[in-house]
Amino acid sequence: MAAIRSRGNKSTEIKLASILRANGIKGWRRHLALPGKPDFAFCRERLAVFVDGCFWHGCAFHCRRPSSNRSYWVPKIFRNQKRDAAVTKRLRETGWRVLRIWEHELRYPGRAARRIAWALQKQNQKMTERRDLH
Ligand SMILES: [Zn+2]
Repeated sequence: MAAIRSRGNKSTEIKLASILRANGIKGWRRHLALPGKPDFAFCRERLAVFVDGCFWHGCAFHCRRPSSNRSYWVPKIFRNQKRDAAVTKRLRETGWRVLRIWEHELRYPGRAARRIAWALQKQNQKMTERRDLH
């Protein structure tokens, strides 16, 4: 039940923080007072990054729901997914781009880093284009 113990996804956050550092990705803050308290937020680029645990957020590949207490886990995971979707929507409405990274993606640090670097680049391009319009 390792997945259950990692509630609050501390270990996945620490892992992503070290991936960001190792790849020279800077400018992030943790747990800013934004909708859903993103795990990482790049304020300048307005990019919010969440690391979603495979169990709690219902990953289609790794969320093996315990057979006991199903009446507890199933609705709880469903509620988490609904909340994730609502948080993403609220952030987008206020001009944030939202990136959700699965816990299992952290097994490939290079790939996770590239996804974030790419999203940051896109946000920077968008800001440059906006400046050009004025
Ligand atoms: Zn997974």
